[in-house]
Amino acid sequence: MKAKVSEIFYSIQGEGIYQATPQVFVRFWDCNLDCCFCDTKPESYKEMDLDQVLSSIFSQQGFWDCVAFTGGEPLLQHEFLRDLSRALKQRRKTTYLETNGILVEELKKVIDYLDIIAMDFKLPSSTKISDFWDKHRDFLKEACKKEVFVKAVVTAFTDEEDIVKSAGIIKEVNQNIFLVLQPDFIHEAFLWGKLAEFKEKAEGIIPNVQIIKQLHKHIKVK
Ligand code: SF4
Repeated sequence: MKAKVSEIFYSIQGEGIYQATPQVFVRFWDCNLDCCFCDTKPESYKEMDLDQVLSSIFSQQGFWDCVAFTGGEPLLQHEFLRDLSRALKQRRKTTYLETNGILVEELKKVIDYLDIIAMDFKLPSSTKISDFWDKHRDFLKEACKKEVFVKAVVTAFTDEEDIVKSAGIIKEVNQNIFLVLQPDFIHEAFLWGKLAEFKEKAEGIIPNVQIIKQLHKHIKVK
């Protein structure tokens, strides 16, 4: 079996509660969504088999113990992802999935070999595409069998209603799951008042809410 892989590289995690953790990133090609703020949708890919991907991962320099699957949407290639995650667990590595939190049936096929799931809630007022609340709820119920946190991108257009809805779903599934509010990098300077209001509102519903910027854009690393 071969996967469509856009790039494999060593860096630090730029987002969420594991920010600054050294990781090797495997970026899978293609995505099932079209968020208006997207800057990570891959443009090209190479077809690689499992041995080639493992060989590239283990040739990365630097101190790392964790492999992050990113995209695009890695779960679009869930069969390969399952084989890769299993191989990495056999080699005692930590596996970390970045996902848009929609493909729950695909997650079920991989979850046994995942350690950490960084799941997006795609807020319709931020993405300017349709809402996925029911799918996010189902996905989160499955994801919380492992360590999971939720990230929501806040833009100039984000509505409070979407933040309240997000916190409500987390409360319903497991109120201790972290909600990360991540400001859209381009408009970050104008968003602090809004972020503070959203944080306070969400904290009225669930206990763990953090505003965390995109680190790698600030320090200009990949
Ligand atoms: S889910 Fe992620 S990769 Fe896909 S379009 Fe949205 S931001 Fe881009």
